[in-house]
Amino acid sequence: MLDKNSRKIDYLRISVTDLCNLRCIYCRPEQGLDLFKRSEILDFEEICVVAQHGVKLGINKFRLTGGEPLARKGIESLVEQLADIEGVDEVAMTTNGILLKDFAQILKKAGLARINISLDTMRPDKFAEITRGGNLRDVFLGIEQAEKSGFTNLKLNVVTMAGVNDDEIEDFARLTLEKEIEVRFIELMATRNRKKLDHAGFLSTEDAIRKIKKIGNLVPAFAKKGNGPAKRFQLEGAKGTLGFINAVTNPFCGTCNRLRLTSDGKLRSCLLKGGEVDVKSIIRADYNDAQNNGPTMRRDKLLTDAFYKAANMKPSYHEGSDKVIMYQVGG
Ligand code: SAM
Repeated sequence: MLDKNSRKIDYLRISVTDLCNLRCIYCRPEQGLDLFKRSEILDFEEICVVAQHGVKLGINKFRLTGGEPLARKGIESLVEQLADIEGVDEVAMTTNGILLKDFAQILKKAGLARINISLDTMRPDKFAEITRGGNLRDVFLGIEQAEKSGFTNLKLNVVTMAGVNDDEIEDFARLTLEKEIEVRFIELMATRNRKKLDHAGFLSTEDAIRKIKKIGNLVPAFAKKGNGPAKRFQLEGAKGTLGFINAVTNPFCGTCNRLRLTSDGKLRSCLLKGGEVDVKSIIRADYNDAQNNGPTMRRDKLLTDAFYKAANMKPSYHEGSDKVIMYQVGG
């Protein structure tokens, strides 16, 4: 499927819940979460209807996100159903890793291809601070278990924050010297809750690169499957790679290939800007009285229209948004 700017759309990020077992300072407010009701959230069957339809239109990759995808009960069954759809190349997941030690093997068996783990610090006290109570040991055990379960190509997502983890950029980069992982530095975006932060400042990709150059030479890394928008380099001689996602200082809109499905059933055109199309109402409608071509064809037509409408709402370029609620849209 091509959008109006001739961008090929072949990737759907699926937010399976707005619940999370952490409360990261830049993502969730300390109190007063605005959560969806259970009945508002798509069930797995409904997610699969949308996903299957997407595949008919050219989607071949899914990523499960949230909220925290591992907090959704039975998530492995969704992974399995999505991986079984003919034409799907890859089902991946972005997780905070807290529950990964219990899930890694199950997910591997279910057909999950790749895991990105969000980790902004390697210091237990700071981790507890950023996540408002998380235990760093759980994430380390999760990473270990993922490696033991046969997940290769692990990626660590590090949101760079001045005054919070800017003193660990080099340490994160050093991890790639001996480990075949990708550490990806992501610029802090101005979401609704981030706006209220006073102690986490912005640190650009350029600043992060400058710090890393002090510990070694950076050389371009070869492209690999599933690299997405990151600009990739390697410390000379390193086993792993470094990725830089300058979502703020240089958004990758021109090559953006994704749509998003929110947990409450909206097809969303862009993380930060653009519009949404409600597909839940299409899936939940009763087409028994459909006049012309029968219920399935009627629903199919509406879903196709919804996908194209969402794709064509994708902005050519965005300059961020301070209104987005990351845990609802799915980061
Ligand atoms: N719970 C999962 C996790 O932690 O990976 C998936 C959802 S989380 C919203 C997805 C990603 O969004 C995480 O890597 C998180 O760091 C990132 N994120 C959340 N708020 C952000 C912000 N304001 N700026 C940049 N990245 C953000």
